[in-house]
Amino acid sequence: MDSKDLANLIFPNAKDYTYYEEKYPVRNLPEGAIVTRFAPSPTGFVHIGGIYQSLIAKLMTKDQGVFFIRIEDTDQKREVENGTKQIIDALYDFDLEPNEFVDENDVDHGEYGPYKQSLRREIYHSYAKKLLEEGNAYPCFCSPEDLEHIRENQEKAKERTGYYGKWTKCRNMPVEMAIEKIKNGDPYIIRFKSPGNPDKKIKHKDVIKGAVDFPENDQDIVIIKSDGLPTYHFAHAVDDHLMHTTLVIRGDEWLASVPLHLQLFYVLGNKAPRYAHIAPMMKMDGEGKRKLSKRKDPESAVNYYKEEGIPKESVLEYLMNIANSNFEIWRKQNPEKSMYDFDFDLKKMGVSGALFDMVKMLDVSKNVISKLSAEEVYVASLKWANEFDPELAEMLSNKEYSLKVLGIERGNAKPRKDIAKWSDVKNIISYMYADKFDKNGEFEYQKVTDKDEIEKIVKTYFEKYYSESDDKQTWFNKMKDLAEEMGYCREVKEYKANPDAYKGHVGDISTVIRVKLTGRSNTPDLYEIMQVLGKEELLRRI
Ligand code: GLU
Repeated sequence: MDSKDLANLIFPNAKDYTYYEEKYPVRNLPEGAIVTRFAPSPTGFVHIGGIYQSLIAKLMTKDQGVFFIRIEDTDQKREVENGTKQIIDALYDFDLEPNEFVDENDVDHGEYGPYKQSLRREIYHSYAKKLLEEGNAYPCFCSPEDLEHIRENQEKAKERTGYYGKWTKCRNMPVEMAIEKIKNGDPYIIRFKSPGNPDKKIKHKDVIKGAVDFPENDQDIVIIKSDGLPTYHFAHAVDDHLMHTTLVIRGDEWLASVPLHLQLFYVLGNKAPRYAHIAPMMKMDGEGKRKLSKRKDPESAVNYYKEEGIPKESVLEYLMNIANSNFEIWRKQNPEKSMYDFDFDLKKMGVSGALFDMVKMLDVSKNVISKLSAEEVYVASLKWANEFDPELAEMLSNKEYSLKVLGIERGNAKPRKDIAKWSDVKNIISYMYADKFDKNGEFEYQKVTDKDEIEKIVKTYFEKYYSESDDKQTWFNKMKDLAEEMGYCREVKEYKANPDAYKGHVGDISTVIRVKLTGRSNTPDLYEIMQVLGKEELLRRI
């Protein structure tokens, strides 16, 4: 009896692995085209890091490559219903459509599926069988107690923990004995028989981290678990081979697994892909930095952006800033271009974690939104409001008027930059809506606070100067005339040169009018606001 008999006993029905080699031929792509993937577990939580990684994958494959999704659901305890749908939906929400993926009904879109690991069970068995036949894998019958015992002994002897070398119990078990145990019904799992020697080093060149040396792997890791599903490591080596991945972009928590992965590819007789390990996104916490946390930071979840109404364009634009720091300058020089025109370089990504800063993101978002037309802002904020804020939806129901409101200081060379997210819109524009404006509210007038003086300024303005048909220049000149009549200086500069000669300047006067009409001292252009509100409403407000 030999290892072939053992392999047949364990996987009697598994196809010969060559079947799959033929089924998934080398991809027909132009020379140098990159094939990469995003391989999340469907745990019901889509982390913003996944969007970041997918964006990078998309940038790398934009012209001629393939970006595919593989759902890694071999840890079925962690899986949630709808997990796959949430991931695919999130990618579509962010315009990061993959070329190949599996949908919520387990239907594959692409020729290299199944794109869900739990549906690839037979494939893993074929490759595990190959390893068993060649003597590169073996069944392990150790119980949890046996493993615990090994660990205790290793700790006592101050040696590395794990299942390796001299510490293994089943690695060198005679085939006959293993066969007998299996026939006997003894429970087992399948382990990889590592050929590694940790006294030797391997040299790895990571696309992002650069050259890193590791000791060779000598751990006999589990490749097939007792439920018949593979471990992540083994599935990675099989899948990325059969799917012809050329570049693995993944979180740097996997960097330490590289020696094992390279060894698995080697023993399976396949070429390993290149690796690019991305540092996690960090967040300031007091003085120090820590990883963006699923538990502590709501902004780590993609749903957060949807709920807050932060446009996908803003999120992507910000992620570009984090990914390549020269993007910011490029963007200044190329305000109109698509970010896919930017010459993205994986090698320019930070080796250590980039700071994920919501304040900066919202700043970027203000810029992004400032470039949109009133119509675009209208459509997007209404869409958001319909889902999350009925009051705003109601305000926006008068489209013609709302377009005028949102059009104030928009579409010009220096557009307004006050909206960072759709959930800001209601508060930013509420005073433009008659039923939201409380003319008896407690307003904060800035410099001029005397009630009689305020009334006098407003009264004089509307009795003597205001005319709805004035153009902007006339309107402004009248403001100056009003200032002069009330004892304020026409010009700010002149006032500053001689402040004692006046009660204030034209800006103080227009502020009084502004606060009276809007309840706020800080608004976009007052002339435009007054035009949109119209005479009748203005008179009602005073
Ligand atoms: N399922 C693994 C994870 O979520 C994938 C790692 C990889 O991309 O290889 O971390």
